[in-house]
Parts: sequence; C-alpha cells; structure tokens
Amino acid sequence: MLNLAGKNALVTGIANNRSIAWGIAQQLHQAGANLGVTYLPDDKGRMEKKVGDLVAPLNPDLFLPCNVQDEAQIQSTFDAIASKWGRVDVLIHCLAFANRDDLTGDFSAVSQDGFNTALNISAYSLVQLARAAKPLMTDGGSIVTLTYLGGERVVPNYNVMGIAKAALEMNVRYLAAELGPQKVRVNGISAGPIRTLASSAVGGILDMIHHVEEVAPLRRTVTQTEVGNTAAFLASDLASGITGQILYVDSGYAIMGM
Ligand code: NAD
Repeated sequence: MLNLAGKNALVTGIANNRSIAWGIAQQLHQAGANLGVTYLPDDKGRMEKKVGDLVAPLNPDLFLPCNVQDEAQIQSTFDAIASKWGRVDVLIHCLAFANRDDLTGDFSAVSQDGFNTALNISAYSLVQLARAAKPLMTDGGSIVTLTYLGGERVVPNYNVMGIAKAALEMNVRYLAAELGPQKVRVNGISAGPIRTLASSAVGGILDMIHHVEEVAPLRRTVTQTEVGNTAAFLASDLASGITGQILYVDSGYAIMGM
C-alpha cells in the first residue's frame, strides 16, 4: 500500500488550484505525508493569501515564501525545515518560468537574458534545492521534478523551455548518481499537456491538448491528480528501486510515431 505516514515532504510550485503541484500536494497528503509548502512571493502578498487559503485544508506544517532566484530565501526555507522537522524525505520541484515572448515565434530570436532566465529558474533551481535538501535527507529520500516531451523533441512554441527541460532531465541523472549512495532517489515525471498558468504562456497549448486527445493511446490528456499519484508513488518506498528516470504520465503520447 502507498503509505507516506511519517514522511516530511516539501512541495514547491503551487500557484492556484490548476497547478500540477496542487495535485501532487493533495495526493501526498492523502497518503499521510507531513507537508511543507512554498510559494512565489509578490510585493502585495497576494500569492501568500491565495496559496495559503488553498492549502489550509491540508494543514501544512510549514508555509514559506521561496523565490528560487533568491538564495537567501532558499536558505531560510531549509533552515525552517531543519528546525521544524530536522529531516526532509521528499522534495517536489514543480516550477518553471520563461518570458512569454520566448514561448512563441522563432526559437533563434531568444535573447541571452531570456535564455538565462529560463534555464536558471526552470533547471538550475533543481540543483539549488537538491543541494539545500541533501544534508537534511538523512534517512534517504526522494526528489521529483516535472518535465515535458518538449525537452527531448521539438514541440512548436516550446522553444527555450525545451532547452531548459533538456538540462533539467540531465540534472536528474547527475543528481541521481551523486545522491544514490545516500539512498536519495531523483526522478522526473514527463507530464502530458495540462491547462495551467504556466502552460497557458506557451503558444497553442489548446491545440496541443486537442492533438493529444486525437493521437495518444488513451485518447485524452492527463489530470493533475494522475500526475500527483505518480509523484506520490515515486516519493514512496514502493519506488525504492527507481532513480535517475523520467516517467511519462502522458496517456501514452510519447510512444507514438505517426
Ligand atoms: P503553474 O503555473 O501552476 O506552476 C508553475 C509554478 O512555478 C508556479 O507556482 C510559480 O509560482 C512557480 N515559479 C515560477 N517562477 C518561480 C520562481 N522564481 N521561484 C519559485 N517558484 C517559481 O504551472 P504547472 O503547469 O503546474 O507547472 C509546474 C511544472 O510542471 C513546471 O515545471 C512545468 O514546466 C511542468 N509541466 C507542465 C505541463 C503542463 O502542461 N502544464 C506539462 C509538463 C510539465
């Protein structure tokens, strides 16, 4: 049985009730994990209120601002984890960002700034969070990130985010190799297209979803809950032999050639 009772799980990337991270947080909670939740803070405190209200029913032990572009906030997040839990077992990395202009039109038009921003927030952040979690994963652990097929193959408009996801997937393998001897597993979930705040910035997301509905073996796209169930499985001891892998939760779309 999938049982996360007694496990301490940090979930990043909840922006609203469409977020994949929200689907993951709910499934981790249902499996009995203690939750810590981070949100991206803004000047007016809107995200704190919005995400705080959303996650309140899950009774998180920790609720903290964490902009991955700010090393000090990452440090305070893990300081708070150290003092509240002393140990972290599960880290969910479920965040990405690229400028909207870079998610449409010619890929070659991407600026150096736009390229760096996408790679920093969407790929380097996994390294930052894993590094901060490493000394607190004293009883082994599981790190899970979210990726997309556009990191392996060309998907119209995904552009610079495809490069970021390719880097992210390689981060998974290098981190898995480094952390394996410490019994920390690192895996990625390659999810099919889901309507969220982040995906709506990618030009033509609805066309992508319709295409999946026509072509994928299951003839539909996936839900946040299905991704959440897979994340809970990867977080659990049921997945104790799995590390360094990218698992597709995409209704089978990735196997299709034509
Ligand atoms: P979302 O907009 O709900 O989540 C993106 C999150 O990233 C938000 O919570 C946002 O606050 C956070 N974020 C952005 N910049 C940040 C920063 N500097 N510091 C901290 N957090 C920051 O959208 P989503 O679709 O749920 O995206 C979650 C993950 O799933 C992303 O990695 C995305 O690429 C991936 N993914 C999404 C799809 C899809 O179709 N929606 C498919 C495959 C993979």
